[in-house]
Amino acid sequence: MSARASDVAAGLDSVRRRIEAACAAVGRDPAEVTLVVVTKTFPADDVRILHDLGVRHVAENRHQEGSAKRAECARLDLVWHFVGHLQSNKAGLVGSWADVVHSVDRARLLPGLARAGAERERPLDVLVQVSLDPPGGRVGTLGERSGVDPEQAVALAAEVAGTPGLLLRGVMGVAPPGCDATQAFALLARIGAAVRERVASAGWMSAGMSGDLDEAVAAGATHVRVGSAVLGNRSGAPVASTRQCGPTGGRREP
Ligand SMILES: *Cc1c(COP(=O)(O)O)cnc(C)c1O
Repeated sequence: MSARASDVAAGLDSVRRRIEAACAAVGRDPAEVTLVVVTKTFPADDVRILHDLGVRHVAENRHQEGSAKRAECARLDLVWHFVGHLQSNKAGLVGSWADVVHSVDRARLLPGLARAGAERERPLDVLVQVSLDPPGGRVGTLGERSGVDPEQAVALAAEVAGTPGLLLRGVMGVAPPGCDATQAFALLARIGAAVRERVASAGWMSAGMSGDLDEAVAAGATHVRVGSAVLGNRSGAPVASTRQCGPTGGRREP
């Protein structure tokens, strides 16, 4: 095994152990939790290493990088997830190589995704990204906001569910930095339950990253998206600007 492969194996082991411990603490079966390794900024060679180590789910957050990497890894049996901010003019392109899109946060994305979904053998799996930020919100490095407001999440989910070519799978969220992740994921879980009441296929909850996957699993996450805890630090990763949380953390109830 190369030095890189043993580093990745060690990272993967520790993340798998964290998932198992978090499941054990709340009486969940670890088989309910899918580890999605976020490979953004890392080379296709790392994707091959991950595949050798048994990983079957990888995620990217940019169209060009993701489509190129998927093409380089075409022979590997992998499910490709898209977790980045979606521009409406790129939605159809992303839907042409991604198998699961986690970041649907507005209806304007649906026509492009639906066109891509119609060209696939099976519908495109879609999650509605819900903003867990404090009111007023957080802005990404490109000035974009990610996630539909909790108050609008069920309505958007219903629109996705009614769009041919798309299969609504559930909800996704990112705990705002500096806020109480447990509280943020509890809100996401409640919204996920409300969505699932209306759409039976929507049982997934995508939540938890390297720093907070334990809280996410405790809150019921079915998919954790983990990058640096498996692959190491990303060089030159942009840091999103954040707002301070109030004393209680998180946002108000809808
Ligand atoms: C990069 C990224 C992750 C993984 O973050 P780590 O802290 O490296 O685990 C998860 N989710 C999204 C949406 C991301 O962009």
